[in-house]
Formats: sequence, C-alpha cells, structure tokens
Amino acid sequence: MPVDSRGKKRTGMTHSIYPRLFTPLDLGTAGVLSNRIVMGSMHTGLEETGDWDRVAAYFEERARGGVALMVTGGMAPNEEASVLPGAAGLFSAEDIASHRRVTARVHDHGARILMQILHAGRYATTPRAVAPSAVRSPISPHVPRALDEAGIRKQIRDMVTAAERAREAGYDGVEIMGSEGYFLNQFLVTRTNRRDDRWGGDVANRMRLPVEVVARTRAAVGTDFIILFRLSMIDLVPGGSTWPEVVRLARAVEAAGATMINTGIGWHEARVPTIATSVPRRAFTWVTAKLMGEVGIPVMASNRINTPETAEAVLAEGAADLVSMARPFLADSDFVRKAREGRADEITPCIACNQACLDHTFEGKPASCLVNPRACHETELTYRPANRRRRIAVAGAGPAGLAAAIVAGGRGHAVSLFEAESEIGGQMTLAREIPGKEEFHGLIAWYRRQLELAGVEVHLGCAVTAAALTDFDDIIVATGVRPRPSRIAGEDCPHVVTYADLLRGTREAGDQVAVVGAGGIGFDVATYLVQYGPSPAGDLDLWRREWGVGDPEAFRGGLAPEGPRPSPPARQVTLLQRSPEKPGRRLGRTTGWIHRSHLRMKAVRTMAGVNYERITREGLLISRGDRREAPELLEVDTVVICAGQVPNRGLADELAASGRQAHVIGGALSASGLDAKRAIDQGSRLAALL
Ligand code: FAD
Ligand code: SF4
Repeated sequence: MPVDSRGKKRTGMTHSIYPRLFTPLDLGTAGVLSNRIVMGSMHTGLEETGDWDRVAAYFEERARGGVALMVTGGMAPNEEASVLPGAAGLFSAEDIASHRRVTARVHDHGARILMQILHAGRYATTPRAVAPSAVRSPISPHVPRALDEAGIRKQIRDMVTAAERAREAGYDGVEIMGSEGYFLNQFLVTRTNRRDDRWGGDVANRMRLPVEVVARTRAAVGTDFIILFRLSMIDLVPGGSTWPEVVRLARAVEAAGATMINTGIGWHEARVPTIATSVPRRAFTWVTAKLMGEVGIPVMASNRINTPETAEAVLAEGAADLVSMARPFLADSDFVRKAREGRADEITPCIACNQACLDHTFEGKPASCLVNPRACHETELTYRPANRRRRIAVAGAGPAGLAAAIVAGGRGHAVSLFEAESEIGGQMTLAREIPGKEEFHGLIAWYRRQLELAGVEVHLGCAVTAAALTDFDDIIVATGVRPRPSRIAGEDCPHVVTYADLLRGTREAGDQVAVVGAGGIGFDVATYLVQYGPSPAGDLDLWRREWGVGDPEAFRGGLAPEGPRPSPPARQVTLLQRSPEKPGRRLGRTTGWIHRSHLRMKAVRTMAGVNYERITREGLLISRGDRREAPELLEVDTVVICAGQVPNRGLADELAASGRQAHVIGGALSASGLDAKRAIDQGSRLAALL
C-alpha cells in the first residue's frame, strides 16, 4: 500500500476525495499527465536575477510537491518582444544551459515543464515595441511600430526559434501566449489591428498570425512536444472577439497542431478585475465551459481557483479537462501532495491579494508570497529542525505572532502563544469583515490548523504581562498596533468611532458617514460602509452585474452593453485625507484601481488636502489649504477615524524596563507602512533563526 509524506498508509478513500483531479490525462504522443493540476505561468523575476540555482530550486520544490505540469514565466522570443528591457529569454547557448538546470531538476521528480513564449507586442515597455498597428495601449508608455510583412515574418521565425531552443533546453513543450492582450491577441481584433493586408481585415486574416505561429512551431518541434495555446476566451475590452471568433480560433489552433488550450481572461488594459481577491472564486469557468465540446483537444480552466474542492468542482461539472492554478503554488508548493493525501486543510491558502507576487513584479522586485515568504526564496529562507528545543513565548496572535509560532513550533521548539482576544488573527479578524476580503477567513482557519500541527500551546483571552514570561528562553513580542487617535477637536463626541470598533461590530454607523483617513484601511472601511446585502465576492451574478461582465456569446468581448450596474450604496460616504495627493494613490499597484473604481461606482465622495477643523454634533467641519480656507460642514451622523496606527509597545517597554531581552516584530516594532506581508515575513524569518 502507498504511504504519504508523513509515513501514513494511503487508502483508496483518500484518493476518492478528488477523483477527477487525480485522473491521469493521456496526451497521445506527448505522453501522460499524472493528474489534472497545472501550475500556470507566473513572472517571478527570478530568471532576471541570473541566479539559476534559485530558479531551479523554486521549480524543483513545486515539482516535488506533485504538480503534473508547470509553465514557466513568459520568455521573450526577441528583444522587441520583451515586456521589460532585459527580460529573460532563450537567446544564447548560455541561456539554454541555464534553463537545462531547471528542466533537469523538475524531471527528477517526474513532473513536466513548459516554457511560455510571451511576445508582449504593444504591451512591451521598450521604445522598440512592435505591433500589428501603431496603436498605443492605455497602459503603455510607447506607441508601437507597425510591422511590415518582413517584420511579421521575423516575429514568427523568432517565436518558432524560441520553441526549438526550449526543446533543446529540455522543456516538454511550450505555452504560446495568445491572450491577455499580448501580441498574438492584438492581431485578432480590430481594436488593435487596423491592417488591410493579409494579416488584417476580416477574421480569417486577423487570426492568420496566431494560427501560423502554432503550425510553424508544430512543424519545427515534432509531434511529441506539447504545445499549449493560451486563448483569450473573454477579452473584456471594447471591440474584443465575438464568441464565434473564439471558437473558430480554437478549432484553427487545434488543426494547426496545438496539444491543449488554456484559458485567458481579459486584456491587461481591461477595466474589469480578473484575479483580485474581490473576484469570486472560479468566476470565469462558465466561459471555458462553453468551449468544451467545440474542440477535440483538452481545455484548461483558470483564474481564481485556489482550493482542490473548487478545482474538483470545475472538472466535475465538465467545465474543463484540466485546471490551471498559478498563485496557489506560490502560497504552497505542496498543494498537490496535500490534496492527494486528503490534507486540504493544511494547504496554505492563496488569498489573491497580489501584494507579494504581482505587485512585486510591477515594482521590478522578485515575486514572493504574503502567506509564504519562502516562495522564490527557497535557497535562502529554510526552516530546519532546531538543534536544541527552546521554550519560546509569543505574545500576540496576529500574523506576525502566528507566523513566528508556527515556524518555531514546526522546527521543534516548545512554543506558547498568548493572545489577549478570544480568537487568533489580530487585525486579520477585521480585514475579513471587508466585502471582497473574505479569503482572510480561510487564512485564519489555516493558522488555527497549523498551530495544532506545530504543537503550539495556545492561550486565548490572555493579555500577557512581563511578570508571566519568566520561564522562557526567548520572548517574541508581536502585540501589533492600535488605532491612532485623530487629535481632532471633538473626537470624544458620541458619534465618533474607530475603524476597529466599527468592524468588530461594537459600534454602528448612520446613513451619512465621514471617513477620516483614506489609506488602505480608510478605503476598506468605505467599502464596508457602502455594501448592502451579500458581498459580490460570494455571488457571481451580482459581481458580474457590478462590473458589467456579459455573456461573450451575446456581446463582443463579453462586455455587457449597459456597462457596470452596481447595487446602490447602503450609505452616503465621504472619504477624506489631509494629503493633497490623489486618494488611493498608494494602494497596491495591481489592485488600487479596483478599489478606486469600486468606490466611484458606489458614489463615495473623496476629498484630498483637507484640514479637519472640528467634529460637532452636526458633523465634521473641514477647511482647505495652509490658510484654512473654504470651511465646509459635512453634515454626517457618524465620523469613522482611520487616522493610522501606533505600535502596541506596552509589553515590549515593560520587558525592556526590567532589563529583559525580547524580539519585537510586526506592528509592535513599527506601525509605519505595516501590512500582513511584512508581519508574516518578519515572524517567519525570526523563527527560522531561533
Ligand atoms: P496585529 O494584527 O495587530 O496583532 C497583534 C495581536 O496581539 C492582536 O491580536 C492583539 O490582541 C494581541 N495582543 C496585544 N497585546 C497583547 C498582550 N499583551 N498579550 C497577548 N496578546 C496581545 N494587511 C495586508 O497585508 N493586506 C490586507 O488586505 C489588509 N487588510 C486590512 C484590512 C483592515 C480593515 C485592517 C484593519 C488591516 C488590514 N491589513 C491588511 C493590515 C494587517 O492586518 C496588519 O498589518 C497586521 O495584522 C499586523 O500584524 P501584527 O501581527 O503585527 O499585529
Ligand atoms: Fe496569493 Fe497573495 Fe501570495 Fe500572491 S502574495 S500568491 S496573491 S497570497
């Protein structure tokens, strides 16, 4: 009988939990995939570091975790196709040798790996960008150069050459990126293809390029090499493809030699969120389902699938033949193994925050993961068994304390965790109340399970003092933060509440509300206040109405003609900030626009550059500028204070006063720029060293 990674006997029952996920898939001459789970392409920025040990370690860890097939981040076929100047590609013999180190280590664990060929077209941020027509994208700095016939031929040649080099480097195949508004996608629609030669005009001409790339690649690489084509099934931009065009392209790429079709959702310039945490789980698998039966090759679903249950349901409904998940493999490299062993409650959940993955990429930093700081740091951050079992006290069960406790406990230390509240989670228990941040529920549940597994002794409802911490080798102070007082005259009026009291439900808001402070928490509080009824994140129909997502069979590009139809706001909310900069400018690079658009849709009034004069019974009096001009009374019945946070340093100070050493982490160390990403990273890194 087979045994699992913990040495327990694996029974048929365990496998029967996800019967479809663990059914092998026969790809004919390209071999058999051991399960239906694919790790989708992610640009991590690791290749660009030039540290190929690190790249190989990252992929190897996920191959060891049992994923059947993985796809690399996008590799440029030539310089003008690069998303960023200096982006990775397979240009030289040296590059091929580097990639060989990756493929060899993946194959050691029986997994397969495809290299994604990504031609950015007009999304390239280089002035050398090329495209079907000279039409700048709203998210690009440069007008691309329209290619002539010879230029198009060169681009095809370069993409085919990239596939040939991938084969030489040991890859099992390539994914040809034909979606998300990149080069091949740009040829498909008149929005970006204004040509009147054989590469533009009618639909047959517009799809000629992607189809030719597939056909020429197949001719070059032979029959046993996987070609996965990523096809945009719903463009979500005006002038996007019609559904008959999508089906026609799918059939044509199949005829041209594609092995499988992957789902692409939305162009990067689309004004509809497609992977953020506020997008319902599996929000787009109904689109992929429409393609099932239209082609004879396997079809893969993607976007916001982050648990084995969700993935199994997609397959059970016949919505796809395989499921692609990307970010969940940053959160947990052992996703597949844990699912196979019936340990889904141990899978570190990807909360779809983008904070350490996509946002890092856009900032030019290597990706990682908020919930798993080891992601993309596999060679440098390791959790080895402790040499000596130490007695460790952790004060505070917010993300910093939780991360420290589970890593230290997992390494074999005797850990006692003290939490003043009646449950763990710290401020994550407030974050989970925000409509669109419900994934925090699952993260807290995961920490609860990890505490059990790591053997941590948990003391809830225990506001610990220095006097109680005498019996430990190490003390970790993770007591977090508390709301900063606003110091506005009249703050003690009865209709003034803090964000913490509001979200805990100990105080309520009236119908007219002023939110003081437009940082991340201010935006979240405004979102909470305007929501009426169920959260759209848990109701796909409602969410689609709010963002204007129509049926691509009825509407070109899948955009509902009437546009977004948000439900009316529950309250009239004004969101204010002292700073004159655009409110929400400092929110996440890839998610800030979603929060700003959402509040705009809910008629939230935002005001920047205000002075708070005083709070009165009638409302909030503000003025503008250094000379405190244009006084205005906002007639509100509630003022919510989101004026930042201050470290909760009581315990740290008490310990210091008694001359005792402690490790201070998370918000207790510094409240400035604090988020769960930093808290978890600090907790994990400290505990890795104890
Ligand atoms: P905290 O979370 O504040 O936890 C500290 C814990 O220590 C608390 O549980 C407290 O009760 C306990 N404690 C204090 N004193 C004692 C004592 N003496 N003994 C025992 N226990 C004690 N961050 C993100 O990264 N992404 C988001 O999307 C996000 N959304 C948010 C939304 C909202 C509405 C809020 C309020 C915050 C959000 N944050 C988000 C911020 C994030 O939650 C915090 O930065 C993070 O929780 C800080 O972690 P921490 O462990 O340092 O402190
Ligand atoms: Fe998922 Fe957030 Fe981790 Fe990215 S950073 S993989 S979105 S949990």
